[in-house]
Amino acid sequence: MIDPFGRKVSYLRVSVTDRCDLRCVYCMAEEMSFLPKADLLTLEEMERLCTAFVRKGVRRMRLTGGEPLVRRGVMSLVEALGRLVAAGELDELTLTTNGTRLAKHAEGLAAAGIRRINVSLDTLDAETFTRLTRWGKLDQVLAGIAAAKAAGLAIKINAVAMNGINDGEFDRLLEWCGVHGFDLCLIETMPLGNVAGGREPTYLPLSTVRARLERRWTLADSDWRTSGPARYATVAETGRRLGFITPMSHNFCESCNRVRLTCTGTLYLCLGKDDAADLRTPLRASESDAALEAAIDAAIAAKPQGHDFVIDREAAPAVPRHMSVTGG
Ligand code: SAM
Ligand code: SF4
Repeated sequence: MIDPFGRKVSYLRVSVTDRCDLRCVYCMAEEMSFLPKADLLTLEEMERLCTAFVRKGVRRMRLTGGEPLVRRGVMSLVEALGRLVAAGELDELTLTTNGTRLAKHAEGLAAAGIRRINVSLDTLDAETFTRLTRWGKLDQVLAGIAAAKAAGLAIKINAVAMNGINDGEFDRLLEWCGVHGFDLCLIETMPLGNVAGGREPTYLPLSTVRARLERRWTLADSDWRTSGPARYATVAETGRRLGFITPMSHNFCESCNRVRLTCTGTLYLCLGKDDAADLRTPLRASESDAALEAAIDAAIAAKPQGHDFVIDREAAPAVPRHMSVTGG
């Protein structure tokens, strides 16, 4: 799949649900209306869609949401996609999770063929964690991370950098990740959907965070890349990697290789744009995948060049949908 700008699309992110057991303040409004259950694809339909993407050239897939592990029966989809990895049809299957249900699922994820996961953890302070997630319990997530480590999964911790919330914690997070053998990836907050108080007061450019970290840590730029947008440095003192995802201060759209599928079968062609294609209709119209594959081709041919995020007091979010709908 090659888009109009010559970019090869080989990475699919799949939001298996828009629902979540947390309400992170930068991600969701407190009162969210979720997609009606009747609109959801079944897990079998999601598997059929994912398999069609693999036939079209997708080599890497990440399950996300919402919180992927709150979807009932999700492990059947993980196992089905894991079989594609075992068969050599997919290079890698990964997962992004908030960690609340990892203690229960870590072993199953590893058994299904997942080798590495991203866990979102913005703070190691229990009170800040509860405030930030509106009701989450840090201990539950730390137990989940420990279970994932014990199951042999490689772990990358994702943290959204927020002024006045966790800006004093990055030294501690980096140290903790070093001790446990995890990579850390910092993310700039993105203007996706309305949230209480807007995002302008907490927006923190990662150039500032990096300059502060460099007072204590030796960061050497690294060529190491995953299929995501992060740029990495190696931390000499811990030997681990530190990633920076900078959609605001440094746009990375020129190398975009991904599209995003939602749990209703909508394909979003850019996280920060409304361009989308309905794949549920062609999926359900016929048992053959010909119409579906034609719809995928037409969608890729219309992939926009990139996003133009702005965070300031007056600017509306780039798109009305929250990250939890599109799949982060
Ligand atoms: N619930 C899972 C989790 O939290 O890891 C997966 C979905 S979540 C939407 C995926 C990632 O998006 C998380 O790392 C989260 O911190 C990040 N995220 C959510 N909203 C964001 C925003 N507005 N700007 C930047 N990152 C955001
Ligand atoms: Fe849920 Fe993840 Fe969004 Fe937090 S960032 S509210 S855990 S979907």
